[in-house]
Amino acid sequence: MSEGVVPNASVADMHDRRLLMDRSVSGRRAIEMPAADVPLAEMPNDDLLRDADDLQLPEMSQLDVIRYFTLLSRLNFSIDTNFYPLGSCTMKYNPKLNDQVASLGGFANIHPLQTDDSVQGALEVMFELQEWLGEATALPGVGLAPLAGAQGEYAGLLIARAALEMRGESHRKVALIPDSAHGTNPASAAMAGMDVVTIKTDEFGNVDVEDLRAKADENACVFMLTIPSTLGLFEPNIIEINNIIHDAGGLVYADGANLNALLGLVKLGDLGVDICHSNLHKTFSTPHGGGGPGAGPVMVTEELASFLPEPVVVKSDGDVPSPARRERARVRAQQYHLTRPDNSIGKINGFHGSFSILVRAYTYMQSLGGDGLRAVSENALINANYIQARLRDRFDLAVDRLCMHETVLSGKRQADRGVPALSIAKRLLDYGIHAPTMYFPLIVPEALMVEPTETESKETLDRFVAVMQAIDDEIDSDPDSVNHAPHTLPNTRLDEATAARRPVLRWQAETD
Ligand SMILES: *Cc1c(COP(=O)(O)O)cnc(C)c1O
Repeated sequence: MSEGVVPNASVADMHDRRLLMDRSVSGRRAIEMPAADVPLAEMPNDDLLRDADDLQLPEMSQLDVIRYFTLLSRLNFSIDTNFYPLGSCTMKYNPKLNDQVASLGGFANIHPLQTDDSVQGALEVMFELQEWLGEATALPGVGLAPLAGAQGEYAGLLIARAALEMRGESHRKVALIPDSAHGTNPASAAMAGMDVVTIKTDEFGNVDVEDLRAKADENACVFMLTIPSTLGLFEPNIIEINNIIHDAGGLVYADGANLNALLGLVKLGDLGVDICHSNLHKTFSTPHGGGGPGAGPVMVTEELASFLPEPVVVKSDGDVPSPARRERARVRAQQYHLTRPDNSIGKINGFHGSFSILVRAYTYMQSLGGDGLRAVSENALINANYIQARLRDRFDLAVDRLCMHETVLSGKRQADRGVPALSIAKRLLDYGIHAPTMYFPLIVPEALMVEPTETESKETLDRFVAVMQAIDDEIDSDPDSVNHAPHTLPNTRLDEATAARRPVLRWQAETD
């Protein structure tokens, strides 16, 4: 099965590993400065200038500079170079069309302080995106302002608190959150001033309904459901759960960061959800991975729409009454407006959200259409289930059930043979595959959360399966080697705690 799978030749071997400074040769130059064709200015006084000898700039030829940075760029791992099955992160291909459209001058060169009538096209895109998202979730109140999934959660929770406060129930401060929720859920609830009460997961990977019933009382503000859950599962009792919360007087929040599992298949609003967010930078193919920018719009029921963060785009219904062409153009030019909803929770960032990300998501939706979006989800589910089905003889499943857009494997059998999930993840790097999400969800021992996404071909999935089988074989033949992987990358095992807490990000001259 695993024949024909070999580790990549080491990229590091092709790379001269000396630092930029160590390549410096005194007197060597990459460019010649043109002679000054303007009058020379006075230099600032000496105490503002550094001594040229202390600057320590590398002196290199142009070719050496180009090689250095080009080879450095080839050490980057990205979705445009390699398979990236990082669970819950949806590292799917971002069509280049999205970038082309976002680069159009009418989108790229406008300023957030321009008047509404001078940016009608941009507002139209925002308005239509609101409509698409409202339609996709059956939650018609849409706020595009949040800059990330976690900020969408935060905005949604502030909406829940504001709505309950208006009902005279400001004492409701409890967020009920399953132990299989995404980690940002309890963090956002704490930020929104709520007390988090954890709900257990039952043996099938579902919310423990009896535990929920016991804890949903007069203090409940929201129940926060990650859907699909971080186990990659759909919650089959969601309607019963929503009824329990509503009967207790609370609201239901759905974390729809990964709506790529549900598009065109299920609408959260139809299931009784009151508030949700979705990550445009996962579900709707806008680039991510370097920490942003992102967009996490918040969607709510009609009743809650007046609480949305400012601004939202509204369309004036005025049909054009005047027969005069110029008059008609003037009226049309003012069709879209930015407004502050009546009971708005206010601004959650400076302007309107990550506008260029909104344009990319809108382009993606427009280019696929409704049927295309449904196919996105169907293929995401098929790909994840294909991997689950092909690997289940080698790896334990967190829960033995059809999965949604990702499958959570457990490396317990491998750990029993002396190789933890961490080493499997590191060994995958030698084969040019990004590590899956590891040790998450916390309730699964040796978790490896694999999200292939819908944009990968069967050939790529087959190679991934073959590589996982090869690593499983290596665990029998040479466990030590797997435990010391990666062997082919410029860095091997880092001290991860120090790397996170005290990163060394720039070269500095050694001083004695
Ligand atoms: C990624 C993710 C989030 C957080 O989104 P950010 O944009 O990183 O803040 C929240 N919930 C789920 C389920 C996610 O997958």
